[in-house]
Amino acid sequence: MTTYRSMTWSSKRPSPFDMTTVASLAVLQAPAHWRRLDFIADLHLQAGADASFDAWRDFMRGTQADAVFILGDLFEVWVGDDAIVAANETDNFAARCAQVLTAAAQRLSVYFMHGNRDFLVGTSFAATCSLTLLDDPTVLEFGGQRWLLSHGDALCLQDTDYMKFRSQVRSTQWQKLFLQKPLSERQEIGRQMRLQSEESKRTGMANAVPLVDLDAQLTCEWLRTAGADTLIHGHTHRPREHDLGQGLRRVVLSDWDLLASPVRASVLRLTKAATADEAPGARLERLPAALA
Ligand code: MN
Repeated sequence: MTTYRSMTWSSKRPSPFDMTTVASLAVLQAPAHWRRLDFIADLHLQAGADASFDAWRDFMRGTQADAVFILGDLFEVWVGDDAIVAANETDNFAARCAQVLTAAAQRLSVYFMHGNRDFLVGTSFAATCSLTLLDDPTVLEFGGQRWLLSHGDALCLQDTDYMKFRSQVRSTQWQKLFLQKPLSERQEIGRQMRLQSEESKRTGMANAVPLVDLDAQLTCEWLRTAGADTLIHGHTHRPREHDLGQGLRRVVLSDWDLLASPVRASVLRLTKAATADEAPGARLERLPAALA
């Protein structure tokens, strides 16, 4: 992965990617031989939810993609990479996830972008599983086009409480202090968060699903600055394609819930034209994970 630095912003105007001064944008150039890429997000895997885990494991084992992009919230909660070595139920779950990722990374490239629930996945876990961590956002160059990839939460400007929380928990200082707490304490915090999430689902207050949507103006600004016409993102759990005007669009990934009726578990697949006879570029399609 290279970092694209030739892009500059007017000094009068802050970069749309950061409230402060980030003036670089990560760019991932797809190797020429890549033909097929799979995108997933918002699986919210957790101990005890075996149906989703099994579907995800089967997908990771079976996909013939050259790369899988996990665009955030693979995990319902992640309290630190050290969870993988501990020995209670939650930790066995983390280790099982690591096994799936590691096995997949032996035959294809696996990219991981943080979501608002698993932002503490760190370089140690990534190294263990041979994942490549992606910045949010990242530009993907593939099929002669630039695709902007993001989890999506940073664009939900109307969710002001969350945006405050986000800037707090994404700070190095906050993360350092949190990770200094004993694992058992962090796991307890994680359990409480899961209980709250379950409770709000039961009472119909879909806390697990963000009620606000992406800010259209900022989304367009991101796309224009990135030189991309399509944003692929998750987070909102509202899978569809939005025409943003002026040739810009965003394509929203589905969340996964194998106990829902109908089942929600889909993959967004980007396939490059194979021959000169086909239209140039790449084709996007959404398909059930079980058929991916
Ligand atoms: Mn999310």
